[in-house]
Amino acid sequence: MEPRILELRREIDRINRELLTLLSERARIASEIGRIQTERGLGHYDPAREEEMLAYLAAENPGPFPDGTVKKLFKEIFKATLALEEQEDKQKFLFSRETRPEDTRVKVRQAVFGDGPLLIAGPCAIESEEQMQRTAEFLASRGVKVLRGGAYKPRTSPYAFQGLGVEGLKLGRAAADRHGMAFVTEVMDTRDVEVVSEYADILQVGARNMQNFALLREVGRSGQPVLLKRGLSATVEEWFYAAEYVLSQGNDQVILVERGIRTYEKWTRNTLDLSGAVLAKQLTHLPVVVDVTHAAGRIDLLAPLARAALAAGVDAVHVEVHPNPKVAMSDNNQQMDFAQFDAFLDAVRDLLEPAKTRR
Ligand code: PEP
Ligand code: MN
Repeated sequence: MEPRILELRREIDRINRELLTLLSERARIASEIGRIQTERGLGHYDPAREEEMLAYLAAENPGPFPDGTVKKLFKEIFKATLALEEQEDKQKFLFSRETRPEDTRVKVRQAVFGDGPLLIAGPCAIESEEQMQRTAEFLASRGVKVLRGGAYKPRTSPYAFQGLGVEGLKLGRAAADRHGMAFVTEVMDTRDVEVVSEYADILQVGARNMQNFALLREVGRSGQPVLLKRGLSATVEEWFYAAEYVLSQGNDQVILVERGIRTYEKWTRNTLDLSGAVLAKQLTHLPVVVDVTHAAGRIDLLAPLARAALAAGVDAVHVEVHPNPKVAMSDNNQQMDFAQFDAFLDAVRDLLEPAKTRR
């Protein structure tokens, strides 16, 4: 090798080292700015500031690189800095697996979310003592450990059946107790969190309330396990941020539920976003449930969707079951009767642990 080239290459190596030191120092200062921006709720990207820096660098450019090349090189540095700031933001979220690498388990009576697949089942709405007792007896006999049923119903029309309220909570609790099941039910109003916590083992925050931040904080403060459904039009990120509201209150008992999102498709009630459920498993440490009933809105798709969800590794599948769906007071087209539930169970049994379901 030409000795002059060797000598010059050593110079280049020294400059590379200095550049790296300077870039690292720049990155450390930028992350300090990033932390302050995050604390103040400000974004990191500031196009006016970038414009100002690029104009300054072009004005100070001693050559030989043309201004355009200098700008291009610095834009890369800006991009890498922004990515660093965003990465640092992500790491501090309580929902993130980077914050807590191990899976969070949520134990509710006999059921442990995060320790082998479970089923959550029960009617859409709690309608009567007989309906709840019959459903709980049937489901318990099939090994289902978590009973659902709404006492406060989020209906599209204000004139539709709104649920039995406290009376419904009592019926749900009694049926679950009688058959050794855990009871999950929806709470829609911050003023009801206390009474619902008295009767339910798990508080459900429904899709329509996923961004009711006051409610999220209140269920967080209750310390009760929370079943958080993904909003009808919520992105995966917005869903995680909703979980963060609950977690930020010191309550880590959060279960995420993918229940289908609104798309242009009309042959299903919603579109099951299995990618969302898998992302939730990968990026968070929380248990993940797939609600196939509200996702599909039709019975013929429940078993295949549940199989797909279980194969993808979710912690539970959620279905609606009613002794006589034809006369149910809500969601009659999508609730399974007992025979349909048995067929459903037969179709998914191999993906559930044998000990957890029996017939
Ligand atoms: C429900 O679980 O009955 C319900 C209303 O679900 P979602 O909030 O997902 O629509
Ligand atoms: Mn329903």
